[in-house]
Amino acid sequence: MEKPIELQRDLPLKEAGMGKIPTQREPEVPRDGQQMEIKGVVDVSLVDWDGKVSSVFFLPSCNFRCPFCQNSALVLHPETEKTIPFPRVKDLLEKQKGWIDGVCITGGEPTVHHDLIDLCSKLKKMDFLVKLDTNGTNPTMVKELIERRLVDYIALDIKAPLSEKKYSKATGTYSKTLLAKVKETIETLLKSEIAYEFRTTVVPTLHQRDDIEEICRSIEGCRKYVIQKFRGENTIDPAFSGLAPFSDREMEVFVAVARTFLPNVATR
Ligand code: SF4
Repeated sequence: MEKPIELQRDLPLKEAGMGKIPTQREPEVPRDGQQMEIKGVVDVSLVDWDGKVSSVFFLPSCNFRCPFCQNSALVLHPETEKTIPFPRVKDLLEKQKGWIDGVCITGGEPTVHHDLIDLCSKLKKMDFLVKLDTNGTNPTMVKELIERRLVDYIALDIKAPLSEKKYSKATGTYSKTLLAKVKETIETLLKSEIAYEFRTTVVPTLHQRDDIEEICRSIEGCRKYVIQKFRGENTIDPAFSGLAPFSDREMEVFVAVARTFLPNVATR
């Protein structure tokens, strides 16, 4: 007989790092109109957009502080990362024409930058498909990007069940307003015709089986849900670096739970 699967690996908060990086108020992000900077580019990626070959742009800053975030420098100290001027990025893209289908814009959180719209517009004029990775805290911008057909695919992170307590813990940020905005973005995508996925990175000490169930109940009608394995490297909260991810078997349990609510569930 198989050993029952134990999913409740709850460490004490201090051990899990939450005592070291306290949940905070909404962090400051760049003001509207401030020049956006591209801080990193991957020329060709086969893994950032299912079924597509893409380049990836990394934009700085974020309004969350997820303790398990792997882009700590980009989020906490974007000024220490070298900026790549757009003309150089444009040259790179021109050279990739015919090799890549499009560009994934990730971060950080791209939608904290007012001129993301301009960037997407430039990419569309160059005939590239555009994918946006977002934490969902700027529904107004997401709506505008969809309405103006400046994006072709949106990957929306759902960090935790949509309760203030659980979202604050998973994002390291206490903000009722931001959670309300995430909910608005979820509703926007559920009603939209655009191709999208909702995705949750599952992290031991933050997520359990019941959380997946709660998330899935709140996104009923979702056309694609992806459960991602956490990787404990360069995390915002050092206590999460080196933390073992859920096993393949544990991931299968999450998927099985999600499939009782949603038709199209995958792992990554
Ligand atoms: S995981 Fe995403 S939303 Fe969370 S801090 Fe990092 S960039 Fe921001």
